[in-house]
Amino acid sequence: MNSFTTPLLKWFQHSKRDLPWRQTTNPYLIWVSEIILQQTRVDQGISYYEKFIKTFPTLAHLANASFNDVLLVWQGLGYYRRAQNLHNSAKLIFNTLPFRFPSTYVELKKLDGIGDYTAAAIASIAFQEPVAAIDGNVMRVWSRVFCLSHPMNSPQLKKKCSEIMEPLLGEAHPGDINQALMELGATVCKPGDPMCDQCPLKQLCKAHQSGNQRSYPLKAPKPKTRTRFFLFLVNLHLRDQTPCIWIEQRGAGDIWQGLYQFPMIETNAPPDSESLAHIEHLTSMGLTEKPDIQKAVYVKHKLTHQTLHCWFINTNLEKPLTESCISLPMSETHRFAFPRPILNYLHTYLKPEIESDCTFC
Ligand code: SF4
Repeated sequence: MNSFTTPLLKWFQHSKRDLPWRQTTNPYLIWVSEIILQQTRVDQGISYYEKFIKTFPTLAHLANASFNDVLLVWQGLGYYRRAQNLHNSAKLIFNTLPFRFPSTYVELKKLDGIGDYTAAAIASIAFQEPVAAIDGNVMRVWSRVFCLSHPMNSPQLKKKCSEIMEPLLGEAHPGDINQALMELGATVCKPGDPMCDQCPLKQLCKAHQSGNQRSYPLKAPKPKTRTRFFLFLVNLHLRDQTPCIWIEQRGAGDIWQGLYQFPMIETNAPPDSESLAHIEHLTSMGLTEKPDIQKAVYVKHKLTHQTLHCWFINTNLEKPLTESCISLPMSETHRFAFPRPILNYLHTYLKPEIESDCTFC
């Protein structure tokens, strides 16, 4: 053990959070937890992880489930591509790799949605392979300990962290060392407020010794954000005396793949110019009354690289916008997975109407 790993592992043993995926070395469960945590905070991820493994306790359960069932469990967590990747990979492992879970960093990286970090985390935690799992927390810790001059998330910083960790991981307990560093970054060496007095590495940390903790890591350039305008056409109607809503499934190659939404028109500008013209063209679809944009419900929804401006407009569309539209009874909306803004609208504006005798119809 060297001067880094001894205090680090001792601290980890006593101070680590009691997280459900830390009770196991089952690679399937660790894989699920790592995919959930790719874009999700730990406190939010716990309930989704528990729900997911209760619904799909083994890889066989996940491989044999329908994608809609997977989306129903994932609903609200965002980044739905992760659910698709999990499902695709589970089917691949179950059907073509005679049910042997990939057990090396190289094999794991061949699965959909698994990059350097996730492959290293699973390989080291489940199979004790000595590979460095470098996430934002780990980069921050090493950046401060050695006052590294590379920007956050840069390939140069990742390479430097990997060089630092290589000799440490070769000694023993690579899974624990990786987890300890991530835990240290998440709970002690926090971005804006490092708690150096509680840190097992404080005697070795150059940033702490020079009082420059907050200067590291160097900031990464801000990624560009895309702005989009979505116009959702909401139509509550009666079918056989049952309140129903038109919905359609989103296709591949964009956000919310496979989820359901109200028929939607995407425009290049807010719906007071070009998009209104689009709506006027809908008369051929049975739209007899021009929707009043002033009465639309507006919601702004932020994703990591996209800002969505959403307008929900009540319409009297008599026919579906496209052939793929479904007239769904409101009592069955729970069987379909929706993106969060649609789900919120359903629960806030439509369900109460249904529950207190529909006034739309
Ligand atoms: S001493 Fe402070 S800045 Fe250095 S690694 Fe520990 S918490 Fe981070």
